[in-house]
Amino acid sequence: MSGPYRPRTLAAQARGAIDEATRGLVPPIHLSSTFLRDPDNLYRSGNVYGRPDNETVREAEAVIGALEGAASTLVFGSGMSAAVALFLSLGAGAHVVAPTMMYWALRDWLAKDAASLGLRVDFVDTEDLAEIERAVRPGETKLVWLETPSNPLWGISDIAACAGLAHTAGALIAVDSTCATPVFTRALALGADVVMHSATKYLNGHSDVLAGALAFARADSLFERVCDIRKAHGLILHPFEAFLLIRGLRTLDLRVRASALNALRLAHRFSSHPNVVSVLYPGLPAHPGHKTALKQMQGGFGGMLSIRVRGGAEAAIATAARVRLWKRATSLGGVESLIEHRASIEGEGSPCPPDLLRLSAGVEDVEDLWRDLDEALKS
Ligand code: PLP
Repeated sequence: MSGPYRPRTLAAQARGAIDEATRGLVPPIHLSSTFLRDPDNLYRSGNVYGRPDNETVREAEAVIGALEGAASTLVFGSGMSAAVALFLSLGAGAHVVAPTMMYWALRDWLAKDAASLGLRVDFVDTEDLAEIERAVRPGETKLVWLETPSNPLWGISDIAACAGLAHTAGALIAVDSTCATPVFTRALALGADVVMHSATKYLNGHSDVLAGALAFARADSLFERVCDIRKAHGLILHPFEAFLLIRGLRTLDLRVRASALNALRLAHRFSSHPNVVSVLYPGLPAHPGHKTALKQMQGGFGGMLSIRVRGGAEAAIATAARVRLWKRATSLGGVESLIEHRASIEGEGSPCPPDLLRLSAGVEDVEDLWRDLDEALKS
């Protein structure tokens, strides 16, 4: 598909790819794990073996790349494998700066496992530029990792300002943009070198695929290194999942705008609820990251919010137990609304407040979502 089309148009038509053989509007799923070698011993198709090569995977990468404005993109079997592949590409001895508040399983991996691979990780409040400035070590720090909005307080890190600090110190900057989505934030245009997604969430959007993505500002040696790691570790996404991911991406724009509108309306209404101590949502003017969110998020603040329940952990868990429409489940970014007592899943040592319920607003009628949770809070 050529022409000056906007990301929403490119995604809706999956870049206009069709099946040339049948003229089908939906390209087939390419399943072959191996490819025919030419008689003169060359592989002119560019495909050799399924661990590095798959056309359906490439189509998913092209759509995500178009949405992020990336020079090159790789998809993986999960968000975790995408992130870990990037950290592995830095090599032993690399120093990394990461946020104190971020997706707990990745924070856990960075805190407990990364050292055995030779990575040295410092955790700082990435919403505070002075902390980043103090943490980066010129010539030593290889990567600054951001997550914005970040789990589960939805803190906002200033991508452009952090990129400036990282680049001055000779470090790269990578952004977990899972919750912002490319609809609301174009991190590469703000100066990021790499954007990471748990495509399990909004990019797929239907809670039926595990996938991850890395979108790179450049097709350079970093991209090549991560490509090699994906191949060596067998981290590529399966073609069936790549097909489902492409199907989900076609409606990304509609879904995330509907979720974000529901989240904004719920955030406002729960702000004056007698059994809610506070609402955490970057779209609320009282949220500490609101000003930065206004600057770097265009058109919405995302579909994720948290509420802190009056009465502490017990009251929060009891509230989640009483909902009927909201689904009590981990994960986020699907068309159905999810509620989770976050401290329970993060376990011991979690920085998550014990009275916090994390809400992933889906695309249902907001009045139904409000009534269900309002009743659960009041019971
Ligand atoms: N980053 C964020 C913000 C997430 O919420 C998650 C999963 O919940 C991940 C990364 C990890 O992705 P996955 O579960 O697809 O491995």
